[in-house]
Amino acid sequence: MEVYNDQYIGGRWRPSVGDGVITVINPATEDSLAVVPAGSAADIDSAATAARAAQRTWGATDPGTRLIHLKAIHEGLVARRHEIADTMTAELGVPIGFSTEIQTGLPIAVADSYVEILADYEFTEKVGNSTVYHEPAGVVGAITPWNYPLHQIVAKVVPALAAGCTVVLKPAENTPLVARLFARIVHEAALPAGVFNLVTGLGSEAGTALAGHPQVELLSFTGSTAVGRSIAELAGRDIKRVALELGGKSANVVLPGADLATAVTVNMAYIFSNSGQSCNAWSRLLVHQDQYEEAVTLAAEAASTYVPGDPTDPETLIGPVVSARRRDRVRGYIQLGLDAGARLVTGGVEAPANCERGFYVRPTVLADVTPDMTVAQEEIFGPVLCVLAYRDPEHALALANGTAYGLAGGVWAADEQSAIAFARRMDTGQVHINGGRFNPQAPFGGYKNSGVGRELGRQGLEEFLRTKSLQF
Ligand code: NAP
Ligand code: MG
Repeated sequence: MEVYNDQYIGGRWRPSVGDGVITVINPATEDSLAVVPAGSAADIDSAATAARAAQRTWGATDPGTRLIHLKAIHEGLVARRHEIADTMTAELGVPIGFSTEIQTGLPIAVADSYVEILADYEFTEKVGNSTVYHEPAGVVGAITPWNYPLHQIVAKVVPALAAGCTVVLKPAENTPLVARLFARIVHEAALPAGVFNLVTGLGSEAGTALAGHPQVELLSFTGSTAVGRSIAELAGRDIKRVALELGGKSANVVLPGADLATAVTVNMAYIFSNSGQSCNAWSRLLVHQDQYEEAVTLAAEAASTYVPGDPTDPETLIGPVVSARRRDRVRGYIQLGLDAGARLVTGGVEAPANCERGFYVRPTVLADVTPDMTVAQEEIFGPVLCVLAYRDPEHALALANGTAYGLAGGVWAADEQSAIAFARRMDTGQVHINGGRFNPQAPFGGYKNSGVGRELGRQGLEEFLRTKSLQF
């Protein structure tokens, strides 16, 4: 087991202040993988001070200089992709296939997209008698979750650096190892000291210290709505900007006439891959009442291909969830659904077969779910699909929009035009039409309690810019 006691601050690894530690657990085996420091407020203060000291010089570099470093980060991610995928499989329990293709492939694609965007971005524009300068927002505090641990880091840090910001990153306590690997890649990309800083630690200590630090001008947070709200409250007091990417309860709506079998099969990938721990998971399947039993049967069949197993096996499609706490929480939701009258189609609260060790949950399908049930309203963040029936498309729209969230969704229809018309009325930031692929250059973010601000693409860069207008 590796024991680390250092943080990446001011361009070098230095001992963490304080003696708090985090033990990183492999969720598939329950073995201890490593120990990393649980950074203190003093570590955050050193990191924010280093970021502040580096900001003006970094912010004044020409974009071509920043582009060289961005390219080097992209190359570093590509060069270490197998190490990255193995690390996430170990600390998150995500199956190696998904870890390689999505958990590693996506951040590589995102880093590459910012190389392209930065190469053409105009940081000044003429408006009448003004020249408008798009300047860096300053020192960024980035707080990230564990579910797509490298993607969330790259989606914040890379555009922030492209914009000329400096960054202090506090990654999730469950997945600090891939964050340390990212810091090594940034170091090898020869960024000036202090431009990027990493403090591993707990949300309650390092996270709150970062959110409240006076040198931090913008907080970019991905995680739960509850923590996002507390960060926004803190930021409001200090007049800091915030970008919040929060939870979801996304609906996949199958309109009459659509290809039901494909819609249901694709839904399974959206809810069971990553063990359902995706903020944009399609956790609610909405089908017309006349097709309901057919949909439930299709869901049961499709679910049977997701057999929980060893995430290091390339054949495995579903691994454990991240922690014992999350396992218990997800099983608690399944029980809550059953208690409320939902029908167990497949899955359940017991451990899956042959998974005595590890934080495994059975891939579960709940039918006869009604919109008033807790399982239809709250984010379960596990491999649990709720199937709801609608009477007509207006009812489907009311159900789709009938939660506090609005992050993602799907619409399937016989023709694209009616799917688009339906999607335009959904209160949500992303909709996949008839199975359209995820696009890492399209802006990503929420309506309602799913957040404010956007990541990815040009909008993701512009989150980290502010304007200054000079009049002539
Ligand atoms: P979380 O508890 O909100 O944690 C997210 C991050 O915030 C972690 O680094 C956490 O540290 C830190 N944190 C916790 N309390 C804090 C505080 N009071 N002040 C500052 N930082 C604090 O979320 P999670 O349970 O790890 O992640 C799952 C949630 O994230 C789900 O609700 C999911 O939908 C959401 N999510 C949203 C998106 C999106 O793009 N919209 C993407 C991924 C996840 P610790 O690790 O020490 O708790
Ligand atoms: Mg947490």
